[in-house]
This record gives sequence, C-alpha cells and structure tokens, in this order.
Amino acid sequence: MSLESLTALVRTIPDFPKPGIAFRDITTLLADPAGFAELIDRMADRIRPLEPQFLVGVEARGFILAAALARVLGAGFVPVRKAGKLPGPTVGIDYVLEYGADRLELHQGQVPVGARVVLVDDLIATGGTALAAAQLLREQGAQLMLALFAIDLPDLGGMDLLRNDGVAAEALLAFE
Ligand code: 5GP
Repeated sequence: MSLESLTALVRTIPDFPKPGIAFRDITTLLADPAGFAELIDRMADRIRPLEPQFLVGVEARGFILAAALARVLGAGFVPVRKAGKLPGPTVGIDYVLEYGADRLELHQGQVPVGARVVLVDDLIATGGTALAAAQLLREQGAQLMLALFAIDLPDLGGMDLLRNDGVAAEALLAFE
C-alpha cells in the first residue's frame, strides 16, 4: 500500500476538540486491517536496525502503535502516562502547554540506565508532549535512538523542536 493510500485512511474531523482545530483521526486507519498492517510494517522497518530494547508509547494513541511495534520487533513496551495514572512508583516531568501545564510519568526503573529506546506517538503537533517524554527518558539515562510518529503536522514545528534538542525524529505521513 502506498503512503498516499495510508494518508487517505486518516479521517479529518473539523472543530475537534475546539473550534478551528482539524483533528487527524487515526481510528479509521487502525480499523482497516491492511492499513494498520502497512503502518506498523513501515514503522517497524524504520526502527528494526536501531535494535531497541523498549518501545515507549505516549498516552493514549501512542500505546496502540508502540505496543504493536514492540510485539513485531521483539522488544518490551513501556507506557508514558499523564500524572496519576500509573499504579507503581513513578518518575515524572512537568511541561508547559499552550494553555496551562501538564505532567508525564513513567514507572520508576522500567527503563534501565543505558537502555536503547524508541519513542512512539501517533502524531506530533507542537512537539511539546514528545519533547517532555524525550527529556524524561534521558533523565532516566536511556539512550533515545529515535522518536517516530505516524503523522507530522509540519506547520506546527514539532520536529524542529525535537531536533534542536538533539533528538532524532521522523514521521511517516504529513498533513499541512
Ligand atoms: P503536541 O504536544 O505535539 O502539540 O501534540 C501531540 C499530542 O497530542 C500527541 O500525543 C497526539 O496524540 C495529540 N494530538 C494533537 N493533535 C492531534 C490530532 O490532530 N490528531 C491526533 N490523532 N492526535 C493529536
């Protein structure tokens, strides 16, 4: 399946979650067996040579992709979640959003010092979420090999934010 066909499986929902926002909805792609397989295969092909020990997924859609990739690549899956959701002892990072602040957490010790990890999310917009997750992983001593996204919104500059911080970052699809 071509990248164009994959792109066509992403649905755009106008004015979600707020007026003026065009939400790129990947549930239509995930519900298509050939599309989901193609997305995971393409992401796995990019990640495989990096030989990661852990695929780290960001709540919530990042879980879906990172878990599938971990299974395909024979790596572990580690969730990064919003504050207060993980049951065990956590380490976390506070970060600033356009409106307000938020916090991401990781189970303490789940990513060992020196571990080779790849960060995965469905979409990068401003890059604030991914940058916070990347910084949290680095603070734990992980080797962040790559941050990989299904979709980039290049107009919002998230890739540059990550790359300026020294994080290797790529996406499969782009929406202007
Ligand atoms: P950022 O922090 O880069 O501005 O926003 C990215 C985060 O918000 C990701 O975790 C992503 O899942 C979510 N997000 C923001 N906009 C969209 C969108 O249009 N579609 C989807 N699927 N997720 C979005």
